[in-house]
Amino acid sequence: MTRSKRNFLIIGAGLSGVSVAIQLIRKGANVALMDNCVNFSSSVAAGMINPLVFRRMTKSWRVDEFIPHLKTFYRGLETETNSSFFHEIPIRRLFSTEQEHDFWLEKQEREDFELYMNRVTDADYSYSGGKNPFGSGRVKETYYVEVQPFFENVKKWISDHGALLTEEFDSTLLSGTQYNDVAYDDIVFCQGYLNPNNEWFGSLPLDQTKGETLTIKSKQLPEDISLNRKCFILPQGDQTFKIGSTYGWSDPTTHVTEEARAEILNNLSYIIDEKVEVLDQAAGIRPTTRDRRPLLGTHTEFKNYHIFNGLGAKGFMLAPLISLEFVEYLLDGKPLDKEVDIARYNNS
Ligand SMILES: Cc1cc2nc3c(=O)[nH]c(=O)nc-3n(C[C@H](O)[C@H](O)[C@H](O)COP(=O)(O)OP(=O)(O)OC[C@H]3O[C@@H](n4cnc5c(N)ncnc54)[C@H](O)[C@@H]3O)c2cc1C
Repeated sequence: MTRSKRNFLIIGAGLSGVSVAIQLIRKGANVALMDNCVNFSSSVAAGMINPLVFRRMTKSWRVDEFIPHLKTFYRGLETETNSSFFHEIPIRRLFSTEQEHDFWLEKQEREDFELYMNRVTDADYSYSGGKNPFGSGRVKETYYVEVQPFFENVKKWISDHGALLTEEFDSTLLSGTQYNDVAYDDIVFCQGYLNPNNEWFGSLPLDQTKGETLTIKSKQLPEDISLNRKCFILPQGDQTFKIGSTYGWSDPTTHVTEEARAEILNNLSYIIDEKVEVLDQAAGIRPTTRDRRPLLGTHTEFKNYHIFNGLGAKGFMLAPLISLEFVEYLLDGKPLDKEVDIARYNNS
């Protein structure tokens, strides 16, 4: 068997699993992608891609590499699947404090922020689509992935080019790299927040960070821009908007809560006064790490067991390039970025 025809079994068809599957298939490997259909991160995500971290008004990690790559990745997939799910959406940050406004003015002078920040103009100070007491700034290079059509279409593409198995992974059926009597060369675990249950990688330090969103109806909010202050607002058409998200570290359930609903509506009151109608509420769990870096690599003892996890709160920005680097590591032996390599924990 040639290297490019290695057989992979991937466990988990969230953003991690489908990204790895796509990259492996593109490089000629055989892929079976298994999922139990209990998805609680990728399916509820807003899919937003924002190159800035507003809290500290910094650029996101490796953003200069991620943005060009993700545009090619998602647009290429749209073409290959003959579908549409990747969209540009302008983001306007309504400054929360005078200090945030000052940070923006300072950063907009810097050459390395030029790609991502518009200079603040008089129109940004007088913007009236939301409360704007400290002025506002418009971010460049901002996008969102429409999650439902993305997963529907890419999973169909994967099933046309490999195999989609709808079942629960049962570790007692795995013997070496043979699963349920089928021989594979490698097993890749992409189980998101469920990784702590994993027999081989469960001890890695992955946090379960709950997030909730609301879908609302509003007559006041603008439909052509995503406003952001204490929460994000993503227009969905027909006067409906997704807003969120909360961050909770102590509740690993996927139930929606009254507390989160109240918190999001309170955050929205910093943008508009309207009493909006809540149409829906969703909860999911982000697989996060303390150092905010993904968890990628190979088990120290079981050399054909691998992990791809820890995409955190910015999965849709990271996944396209990180999954390519991961697959180049698996197939071509290219070293992983030390920042993402699980070797940094030395305990698997
Ligand atoms: C409320 C919320 C909003 C978010 N908004 C954004 C956003 O706007 N932009 C952004 O970039 N990111 C966002 N994220 C983060 C993003 O969703 C994650 O980074 C990403 O989805 C993680 O994908 P994953 O595949 O690693 O995990 P998951 O999506 O959890 O996928 C893991 C998969 O593995 C399957 N699985 C697990 N165990 C087994 C088993 N034993 N057998 C079979 N299958 C199994 C699960 O069913 C699931 O389908 C958000 C997250 C939340 C919760």
